[in-house]
Amino acid sequence: MSERTSDIAGPSYVEPAPVHHNEPNPFESMMARFDKAAEILNLEKGVYEYLQKPVKQVIVSIPIQMDNGEIKVFEGYRVIHDNILGPSKGGIRYAPDVTLDEVKALASWMTWKCAVANIPFGGAKGAVRCDPSKLSKVELEKITRRYTANMFNVFGPESDIPAPDMNTNEQTMAWIMDTYSMHSQRTETAVVTGKPLIIGGSLGRVEATGRGVMISTLEALKKLGLNPSDVTVVVQGFGNVGSISAKLLKAEGCKIIGISDVTGGYYNPKGIEVESAIDYVKQNRTLEGSNFGEKITNEELLELNCDVLVPAAKEDQISADNAGNIKARLIVEGANGPTMSEADEILKEKGIMVIPDILANAGGVTVSYFEWVQNRLGYYWDIDDINKRHDRMMREAFECVYDTANKYKTTMRLGAYIFAIDKVARTLVLRGIYG
Ligand code: GLU
Repeated sequence: MSERTSDIAGPSYVEPAPVHHNEPNPFESMMARFDKAAEILNLEKGVYEYLQKPVKQVIVSIPIQMDNGEIKVFEGYRVIHDNILGPSKGGIRYAPDVTLDEVKALASWMTWKCAVANIPFGGAKGAVRCDPSKLSKVELEKITRRYTANMFNVFGPESDIPAPDMNTNEQTMAWIMDTYSMHSQRTETAVVTGKPLIIGGSLGRVEATGRGVMISTLEALKKLGLNPSDVTVVVQGFGNVGSISAKLLKAEGCKIIGISDVTGGYYNPKGIEVESAIDYVKQNRTLEGSNFGEKITNEELLELNCDVLVPAAKEDQISADNAGNIKARLIVEGANGPTMSEADEILKEKGIMVIPDILANAGGVTVSYFEWVQNRLGYYWDIDDINKRHDRMMREAFECVYDTANKYKTTMRLGAYIFAIDKVARTLVLRGIYG
């Protein structure tokens, strides 16, 4: 999902946590894949149990004095799935309907993502249940600072390092860095990544996730024997990830024939002027009222006739209901968890290659890692250095997953899980169990 949009509409921020009965549950989707990979690897029971559960789940109350003088209490979460490969790493999202189960799934995904990307981090995720579109900047700052203060013993450059995710951005990260620094009485840039450049952010971080999607797509096209300039691409979601993936793929010669945001889909078989669409959204917030293409629904967009589909919006978009109608030959998951596990088999039978989220969108956390390294070095790299290192790491990660999938004669998704779980499990066994 986009890291820099704040276009989520939804209920107010003080209702009790929503209970989802029979609704898609990202934790179940993650566990379904984890279980399959664990079985293939013949994972020892104790190791399976260790990796199945997060090592820490923190829930905090965040009381805030609203602009109208009222006191409101929000709920904040931080789930640390593990810190086997290193300090835990993962974004913080603000959303009105976020649940602990969702944060748990996202935290485990970060573990597998960092392992796939060959980054020395464990996995974590945080969230605050609030609706940013209904909050003023002052209220958002208060929520962020109180959340950070409550998590002071959890966060740390050597222990747990947050980053942006849905509805949080550079400004949010700047508040986190400042609050943490105030409490520790020294400037701690490396406690959080995705910061503004001027306070220790990294060049290339804003574009990184979209850049990783572009590199993954190009690698996959090579394997399929397709030339970028011969393929048509549909991108779902036009936040940070979707818009930059579309822009970079267009620059590589692909024809972008469909884009979408919360207002619906826009289809133009002649090709969409992505740069103009990005400018349009900068001015109008959404694609509504634009003439970049014929207006279609988000559901129709996913089923368009195209070569590559990039779901870069949110979780659970491809289900058993619509997987059979997808016509793309390649799906590259820009969002976290856009495909429900129930759809995996259908896509496999249709011969659609899926580059899974934990590989396809790992560019973001890769440049987060570079940001953390630069903060600790106190020395900053130029953009060519960042892009070169990023592209190389993404290509290496792609090859590792591709080779694993071939070795076990399975999909790229299971290949990624097998590669990641094997690496984390072996590290766990080497480190041993303390106690
Ligand atoms: N939120 C992003 C993700 O899901 C980035 C996490 C990070 O940079 O730590 O990958």
